[in-house]
Amino acid sequence: MRPGPFQYSKPETLEQALQAILNGAVPLAGGQSLIQAMRLRSAEPTSIVDINAVADLSSEIECEHEVVKIGALATHRQLAEHPTIQREFPWLAKAATEIGDVQIRNRGTVLGNICWADPRANMAIALLACDAIIHATSTTQNGSLEQIPISDFFTGFRSNILGAQLAISIELERRPDTIGSYIEFSRQRQDLALCNVCVVHRNRTTAIAVGGIAQQPIRLTQLELLLRKQGLSKKLLATQIREAIEGSHFEAINDQFGSSAFKQQLAATLIQRAIAKCIDGGDHA
Ligand SMILES: Cc1cc2nc3c(=O)[nH]c(=O)nc-3n(C[C@H](O)[C@H](O)[C@H](O)COP(=O)(O)OP(=O)(O)OC[C@H]3O[C@@H](n4cnc5c(N)ncnc54)[C@H](O)[C@@H]3O)c2cc1C
Repeated sequence: MRPGPFQYSKPETLEQALQAILNGAVPLAGGQSLIQAMRLRSAEPTSIVDINAVADLSSEIECEHEVVKIGALATHRQLAEHPTIQREFPWLAKAATEIGDVQIRNRGTVLGNICWADPRANMAIALLACDAIIHATSTTQNGSLEQIPISDFFTGFRSNILGAQLAISIELERRPDTIGSYIEFSRQRQDLALCNVCVVHRNRTTAIAVGGIAQQPIRLTQLELLLRKQGLSKKLLATQIREAIEGSHFEAINDQFGSSAFKQQLAATLIQRAIAKCIDGGDHA
């Protein structure tokens, strides 16, 4: 199908882009989710603001002393191939590598994937497990940036907290001695995952993010607490993980891809495998 009629603008300044968003325009980055949804008419924006020419938006992945900052226009491919990401956050590189095909990874942006907020979006799951911080701004903020913890960012099925704000970058803390593993299950290669998990472990703290079982990407805090008490163990049974999932509060997804019970069982198995992978040293580039 073709998209419905819409107005298109491609401003060069951040101020113009923010003004367009305030007036109701929807940001367009790589277009790998938005354009597809428009063609299916599941999204019908009447106005689009293309952010690719905005001079103040970065397409860089900047490595500072304590943080890595991913600019709004940095793509999945850049992330997957970045030496620091491969060395210090190999689970992120893996999550990026498993998105679609090379054309999609060349065009699609990391922040676009998060802003789309699909419950199974690879970067959303992998970055949720890293406690990333999103920087966003709007016309009313006089140039200042709001820092939004990613755990507060997702508000429901394909919805986020931004409102009239534009996401400018996402920041990750560089923490030595951190290991992690990203694992997904798809019906076929290049498909959006049916269920995906990311486990990140440092000292005695484990973060577990899961996609595909709830309306939005979620953290399994109850299971994280259990692991803090017990430590990472390959003896943790899928049934124990399943119980922790069932004890968590979220709106379950039951759809054409499977029942909520099936997806929760799948998630438990993937979490078990990701924990085992972390015990064996985690993902490697
Ligand atoms: C064939 C195919 C296979 C795919 N496979 C996968 C997969 O396996 N895993 C996966 O996770 N995804 C997959 N995708 C989805 C897709 O690759 C990503 O979601 C996409 O890269 C999003 O980034 P984008 O830059 O293209 O965003 P766009 O499509 O341009 O935008 C997505 C949404 O985010 C908003 N947005 C974008 N940037 C900003 C910003 N800076 N501030 C505020 N809002 C913003 C837009 O308004 C829009 O609502 C697939 C897509 C296709 C077409």
